[in-house]
Amino acid sequence: MTAIPDIMLSNGQDIPQLGFGVFLVEPEDTVAAVSTALEVGYRHIDTAEMYGNEKEVGEAISRSGLDRSDVFVTSKLGNDAHEPDDARRAFDQSLKDLGFDYLDLFLIHWPLPTRYGGDYVSTWKTLEEFYRDGRARSIGVSNFQPRHLRRLHTESDIPPAVDQIEVNPYLTQDELRGFCAEHQIAIEAWSPLGQGSVLDDPTIEAIARQVGKTPAQVVLRWHIERGDIVFPKSVTPERIKENIEIFDFELPGQDVEAISALNRNERTGADPDHFDGR
Ligand code: NAD
Repeated sequence: MTAIPDIMLSNGQDIPQLGFGVFLVEPEDTVAAVSTALEVGYRHIDTAEMYGNEKEVGEAISRSGLDRSDVFVTSKLGNDAHEPDDARRAFDQSLKDLGFDYLDLFLIHWPLPTRYGGDYVSTWKTLEEFYRDGRARSIGVSNFQPRHLRRLHTESDIPPAVDQIEVNPYLTQDELRGFCAEHQIAIEAWSPLGQGSVLDDPTIEAIARQVGKTPAQVVLRWHIERGDIVFPKSVTPERIKENIEIFDFELPGQDVEAISALNRNERTGADPDHFDGR
C-alpha cells in the first residue's frame, strides 16, 4: 500500500498530503467510492455540508473497520449558516450526520456576509469556539483572498490552518500561495485536475509519456512537488487507485516549471471576488 506523506499544519496537527474529495459524488454512490478509497489507502476525506453526503462519508468510515483517528476528515460550513448561531447549529449537524464527536478540520466554505449584515470575521470567531472546545482539531478557510486573510490576521486570535482554493496547471495562484506561505497557512488545492480539463494538455501528455505515468498522476504529482495538499475526486475504482499511485516517482524541477508555465489564470469554478453564495 502506498505511503502518503503528512504535512504539518501551523498548529502542529498532521494532515495527509493526498486525500479523496467527494464534491458531486451522489449520496447513493458515496459509500462505495469512499470505501474503495479507504481500501486502497486514502486516509483523508474532504466533504462539506453543501455536498449532501456527510452521512454516507461517515457510514463508509464506520463500515471500514478503521479507527476514527486513522482517517483525517474535513467538512465545511454551508453558505447559509454564517450567522454565529446558525454556524453552531450547522457544525453540530455535520458532526451528527458524520456520526463523529470531532472533525479534524472545519472550514468556512466561502467568504460571505452573514444574514444580519455581519461578515466572515464573526463567522471565524464562531469557528474559534469549535477549536477551543476541541471538537474541531484544526480550523481553516476556503476561497479566501489575501484581503480576507489579512482581516482574520488583524481581527482574530487563531490563524487559519489552511486556505482551500482552486489550483491547477491553468490556475497556479502564485500570488495567493506566496501570501499563505508567508503566513504559515497551508494550501489545499481544490479541483486539482481542473475537473479533468487539463488532462489532454500536450505538455502534460508529453511529460506523462516520458515518466511512464498518466496525465492525472503527473498533475497530482506536480501539486505534491509544490507542497500543496490535494484531494482528487472520482467514482471509478480504477481512477481512485490511479490517483493515489503518485508516490513512487518524482518530477524533475524542469517538468514542474514547464507545467507551472501553463498558467492562464483560468478558473473552472466560481470566482471568490464575484461569488454570492448561490
Ligand atoms: P477534480 O479536479 O478532482 O476532477 C475530478 C474529475 O476529473 C472527475 O470527475 C473525473 O472526470 C476526472 N478524473 C479524476 N481522476 C481521473 C483520472 N485518473 N483520469 C482521468 N480523469 C480523472 O475536481 P473536483 O471534484 O471538482 O475537486 C476535487 C475536490 O476538491 C472535490 O471533491 C472537493 O472535495 C474539493 N472542492 C472544493 C471546493 C471549494 O469551494 N472548497 C470546490 C470544488 C471542489
